[in-house]
Amino acid sequence: MNYYSLHKKAPISTFKNAVIKGLAPDKGLYFPENITPLPGNFFDEIDRLSNTDIAFRAIKQFIVPEIPEKELQHIIEETLSFEFPVLSLNDTMSTLELFHGPTMAFKDVGARFMARCLGYFNKDNDREVTVLVATSGDTGGAVAHGFLGVKGVNVVILYPSGKVSAIQEKQLTTLGQNITALEVNGTFDDCQAMVKRAFLDASLTQTMQLTSANSINVARWLPQMFYFMFAYKQLHKKHSNIVFSVPSGNFGNICAGMMAQQLGLPIRHFIAANNANNVVTRYLLSQLYAPRPSVQTISNAMDVGAPSNFIRIEEIYKNKFDTLKENLSSYSFTDDETRAAMLDLYNTYQYVADPHGAVGYLGCKAYLKENPNAHCVFLETAHSTKFLDVVEAVIEKKQPLPEQIRAVMDKKKVSISINTYDDLKGVLLNP
Ligand SMILES: *Cc1c(COP(=O)(O)O)cnc(C)c1O
Repeated sequence: MNYYSLHKKAPISTFKNAVIKGLAPDKGLYFPENITPLPGNFFDEIDRLSNTDIAFRAIKQFIVPEIPEKELQHIIEETLSFEFPVLSLNDTMSTLELFHGPTMAFKDVGARFMARCLGYFNKDNDREVTVLVATSGDTGGAVAHGFLGVKGVNVVILYPSGKVSAIQEKQLTTLGQNITALEVNGTFDDCQAMVKRAFLDASLTQTMQLTSANSINVARWLPQMFYFMFAYKQLHKKHSNIVFSVPSGNFGNICAGMMAQQLGLPIRHFIAANNANNVVTRYLLSQLYAPRPSVQTISNAMDVGAPSNFIRIEEIYKNKFDTLKENLSSYSFTDDETRAAMLDLYNTYQYVADPHGAVGYLGCKAYLKENPNAHCVFLETAHSTKFLDVVEAVIEKKQPLPEQIRAVMDKKKVSISINTYDDLKGVLLNP
């Protein structure tokens, strides 16, 4: 499959080049040239297929033959080695739990898949690739775990000292092997600025192959369509009019759901559930797209002022506002509303949600008020204990730590402290 840049000022790209480069040379996001729907009986008989079968058939057209079928199958099996359960709360609402992977956030799926694609493309290359990524929390852990032990790939993660949760820090700093954690004396924006500068620094890019691993990368974005299909598989015999409420920040996850819809998955509607960072909510009301600097909230993985993947969503709906509106609703909620939703979920359903999942739940409630005949699935994008302070304060109950979290809490943190861009360069050039 070929990919084009959404800025339309760059050459057509292979899948391989799009994965290795991330962004097109004109700084546009890559988008597949064709999307061929799967045969109708695929969805009628989906409950007879295994998850890996579903995933393979869904993504094959975007990747084979650049990665041969057998190899792709293997990558998918390794990526999807955990559960994606759907829990029904009542007749009109379910939650799709995406936190059963190694770092307990949905980003595990995209990060593991991308890591293995990059590993495949680089396996016969003596030149190592260095993945450089800045994180405010979840991305770093998922990327570190996804790339752990992948041959020919080194990962360097920058995180702001003292500004990620204790659990998130352990997930970043205790792995060793090909993962290096840099603890930056500064903010997330400082980390991101250093990463951006490194990509533009010829003295680095001439001596080493640098790449990024955020959700603009096609190999992180596309596999996220799998679990919309897994949810449909679990629900379609019991419910019709299935809609998804997706807690959204950079809009990569919801945009992958829309790709599943393009492949023929009968999804009636999407709900972008937002916190106070609500550029898309405002756009659907006013038809004016007006990004703003991000504001801090308790659902901090969604604190994004200018969502990078929204341009892909516009492309999917052919840049037609009316088509977009038929398929997408968006609501925005405050932190107080989010806390109240967490309490409501706990008291009514004995369900402990994290703040992001709770925003998704509010999205379902708002949509169902207007559309009572739908069955709304909200994505629970992270495990509640990743946001322990907020969760325990709201439900006033101590939470047991799951196995994945306990396993890292006892390990020793290893990080390198850095202050300046020159410090970063020193580490990259003299590993
Ligand atoms: C990254 C993240 C989101 C937002 O996903 P996007 O694809 O950026 O919209 C939501 N919840 C959690 C827990 C996340 O880590």
